[in-house]
Amino acid sequence: VILPDGELVSRAARETPSRDGPDAVVAACISTAIEARERAPSEVGPAVVGIGVSSAGPVDPWRGVIADPPNLGPDFHDVALAAALESAISLPAYLDRDANVAALAEAAFGASRGCDHFVYVTVSTGIGGAIVTGGQLLHGPDGSAGEIGHLTIEMDGPTCGCGGSGHLEAIASGTALARDARAGAAAGLSPYLAGLAVPASSLSAADVAQGEDAGDRFCATLMARARRAFAIACASIVDLLDPARIVVGGSIAAAQGDRLLGPARDEIARSSFRAPAARVRVVPAALGPDVSLVGAQPLVTARLGDPAWRRGRPAPSAHSGA
Ligand SMILES: [Zn+2]
Repeated sequence: VILPDGELVSRAARETPSRDGPDAVVAACISTAIEARERAPSEVGPAVVGIGVSSAGPVDPWRGVIADPPNLGPDFHDVALAAALESAISLPAYLDRDANVAALAEAAFGASRGCDHFVYVTVSTGIGGAIVTGGQLLHGPDGSAGEIGHLTIEMDGPTCGCGGSGHLEAIASGTALARDARAGAAAGLSPYLAGLAVPASSLSAADVAQGEDAGDRFCATLMARARRAFAIACASIVDLLDPARIVVGGSIAAAQGDRLLGPARDEIARSSFRAPAARVRVVPAALGPDVSLVGAQPLVTARLGDPAWRRGRPAPSAHSGA
């Protein structure tokens, strides 16, 4: 439960019962939301005006539907979570992709306050993104705009979880670093990773980062490649969108700090167009791991009472080119 100033006053959490199918996941969301409201201070609970949902993508934000997220199993397809929450709790519910909700949070309370043109990137297990232009999220006609993790960095590069090749997420995400760590350990390329007291199957991105700090050449090469891929993506973002800020969140970005952002600033200065390169600031996100929870507040207040978010996906028209 979030107050209008962004203060988080109560929370509840559950494991996602993805193995039990979509109905169980929806039921768990409903009972968790009810529990969070019951835990709020007595004057706050009854004053809650709406429910904001931050979901793994892809989603249809106009209908409040989660399409087919890769990590929730094959049965999870076109799940109308917002409508289920509305009818169970009798409050309007709004849903968007997690990176979009995080961008709204940073705009309202964090590193992009007062900034109408920015790109939000999260570098974590996966790599997500969101585009805010003219003070509004850019959704595109399908609601999928801003999937920065799937920019192609390397034409014939490693296979991405989405099926594509050489995407940023396939090179620089935590999942990609862990995959490369396992392969390197199996091939005997890294004395550091081989010496860890964990099975190769549970090596993580954090192990690679620690290996670099311990002087392991293989780990240093992987980290440098990830930073370079991120830097190249940022330089392309600057040329494509002319953002005033690139706000970078996620656990890997938080752990790496300027080791990740510095090369991005250098690559922008070296290769992006001069005017946007001089303007843009690459800054760390301000809100930490609760960013998507806090983003529920601006998500609800921006859409409450606006029929555009209640009637479904905008109809294709000649104007939109569809
Ligand atoms: Zn991809």
